[in-house]
Amino acid sequence: MTVQTKCFIELSDIVALRFDCKKCKTITIFPVEEFRDMPHICPNCEQEFYGFHDNVTKHTMREFVKAIRAVNAMTEKGGFLFSLQTSGPST
Ligand SMILES: [Zn+2]
Repeated sequence: MTVQTKCFIELSDIVALRFDCKKCKTITIFPVEEFRDMPHICPNCEQEFYGFHDNVTKHTMREFVKAIRAVNAMTEKGGFLFSLQTSGPST
């Protein structure tokens, strides 16, 4: 017998966005419901997360959060549930 464990995450499980600075390891967390914009720099060491004029990154992150909110609203009203399969907990 083979036993398989599959892990799924529903978008409603996503409550916050986390940004880790690659330089100083500072973690910045934003609640999804309150998220407006991704920080341009690390609030601790001021490492640039993306170029000041890079509107693509800023726009993509906004659209990502917008999509999470929209899919959540659809699943609340619709006759389906939506989830994403993950690679599961690391061992
Ligand atoms: Zn930093």
